[in-house]
Amino acid sequence: MSLAQGRPYLAIPGPSVMPDAVLRAMHRASPNIYEGELTEMVAGMVPDLKRVARTDGHVAIYITNGHGTWEAALANTVAPGETVLVCATGRFGHGWAEMAEAMGIEVEILDFGRTAPIDPERLRARLAEDAGGAIKAVLAVHVDTSSSIRSDIAECRRALNEAGHGALLMADCIASLACDRFEMDLWGADIAITASQKGLMVPPGLGFVFFNDRADAVRRRMPRVSRYWDWSPRADPQMFYQYFGGTAPTHHLYGLRAALDMIHAEGMEAIWARHATLARAIWTAVDAWGGEGPLRLNVANPAERSHAVTALRIGAPHGARLRAWTDEQAGVTLGIGLGMSEEGDPTGTGFFRFGHMGHVNAHMVLGMLGTVEAGLAALGVPHGAGGVSAAARIVAEGTGAVLSTPAHPQEVARWG
Ligand SMILES: *Cc1c(COP(=O)(O)O)cnc(C)c1O
Repeated sequence: MSLAQGRPYLAIPGPSVMPDAVLRAMHRASPNIYEGELTEMVAGMVPDLKRVARTDGHVAIYITNGHGTWEAALANTVAPGETVLVCATGRFGHGWAEMAEAMGIEVEILDFGRTAPIDPERLRARLAEDAGGAIKAVLAVHVDTSSSIRSDIAECRRALNEAGHGALLMADCIASLACDRFEMDLWGADIAITASQKGLMVPPGLGFVFFNDRADAVRRRMPRVSRYWDWSPRADPQMFYQYFGGTAPTHHLYGLRAALDMIHAEGMEAIWARHATLARAIWTAVDAWGGEGPLRLNVANPAERSHAVTALRIGAPHGARLRAWTDEQAGVTLGIGLGMSEEGDPTGTGFFRFGHMGHVNAHMVLGMLGTVEAGLAALGVPHGAGGVSAAARIVAEGTGAVLSTPAHPQEVARWG
């Protein structure tokens, strides 16, 4: 017998859960893309998008996924033959590096492994050696979705400044924007990229590149930028057509409008606190289960963990078995382990992930945790007792003072 009938829960780290309000907003006849409502709506959306990234800079919107924004950020600022320094804390850092390489860019990787964040001191030391300024950009993944490590982007900026290095700082915020605190201007990121299908709660298909004047000055010095990726007309369109380099992603834009309304109605600080509390409930449950048996959080230090995705090690073949059980028996789909192969487990089936980004609340997280606890029991995987009760206590305590990156009063006053 299966207990999976009912509303399914896709608890993978993207695409995330789509709010009904977003889906309803998309369910409509095609709008005109030359004049009228849609054109006005997009102009009004740009400031609301920048508020999510906390930047006074510019934003270019692409019909693409996250991979496209990797390429877009590089295409505007780094020419073939120039060098970038990639700070890798998991599969996505390496993926961005591979993207750069395929564009003819010279790539150097600072590899911090799969269980630790970017070490700003190592970054500073490497930049200090580059007296000639060969490195044009530092590529940092804020939250690497494969390992669930969260790095400190403000510390990366400090490393650049202390080394007196003029490279651009690019942050991949695809898994963190509108989940984990991110303050583009305050933290000193020159470029921040994201995509629609994670914290922004819109189906995959929209990519966003935020950039400041410094990055734009680099763009203007580029010998050539491919027409599709060029951010200049998109960020400063003379006609509506230029926003999207062609036909607008009409229905996605209505979905995005609805999502931005939800985001700003809740408020960025409240969204970050919600994600932090729900993440802490998850960690607490896993710690209880791990008291006996093989289950472990991939990242030991809570201050270095994403609030939107959690990677766990359970050992092969339990990861794959557990995911199959929760999916088939209970209607909860958990994320696969990604880029986490290890000795004796070449495909990384001993890892799995919880996605808890975007449109996720306490009952969903408690339901997911209860399902995992049931799965562990059903499959005979040894685990400590009381995981779900421990998580429920965190939820009962509420969102009091759990943010590991505290609010900056001036930014709260400025952005709400
Ligand atoms: C999801 C994700 C990507 C890739 O995005 P796609 O939309 O799948 O191309 C890149 N980086 C991070 C950190 C991500 O979470």
